[in-house]
Amino acid sequence: MSKHAAVQFHRELDDLFERRTSWLRKVVDRGIRTKPKVFNRKRRRTGIDRLKRLSTECLARDFAKREFAATVDKKKRWQNKGWSRKDKRRDFDRWFAKHIPFKNCIYIFWRHRRAEYIGRTVKGKGRPQSHFTKFWFSGISRIDIYSTSQASQTPKLECLAIHRFEPRQNGQKASMPKWAKKCPVCEVHKSIEAELKDVFALR
Ligand SMILES: [Zn+2]
Repeated sequence: MSKHAAVQFHRELDDLFERRTSWLRKVVDRGIRTKPKVFNRKRRRTGIDRLKRLSTECLARDFAKREFAATVDKKKRWQNKGWSRKDKRRDFDRWFAKHIPFKNCIYIFWRHRRAEYIGRTVKGKGRPQSHFTKFWFSGISRIDIYSTSQASQTPKLECLAIHRFEPRQNGQKASMPKWAKKCPVCEVHKSIEAELKDVFALR
């Protein structure tokens, strides 16, 4: 998956560069045979968007995974053993009270092999139970809880988890309060976007 995205990234980058330079090539070499490819505002935007999406895919696998592992302190897992919605909530409440001493953690709701939702608890606020009334909760088969040592690390861990697991119910990144540590993947994304805009600036 990641390798495939990298191949596509190179291909798209080459294509966009060819478009960006086709005027220049034609001016210098009038005998050039190839038909000039279109490079305009619209093509530039779709090209950059595609490159950004592919770079996300590439970064999510290795970089986000590594940073995620470095930020996590402990992991706990709750598994649904086939209960009804009501029993599931009761069992989780009991399990949470008994096993989760962490004040700063993130939680991942899984529907079998797909992540459904990722949220955070900071200084004990925003517990996973607050999502039990959501429509997608019925299909949840397990909940993973990862703790972090400091509150400032929690939004960063949440954002890294979103890059890595691509949950269905979240946006593309976590909300980042001012006091939070920065998400390294988002930082690289910002540099990638700036670089692409520079390289493919319009004349
Ligand atoms: Zn991020």
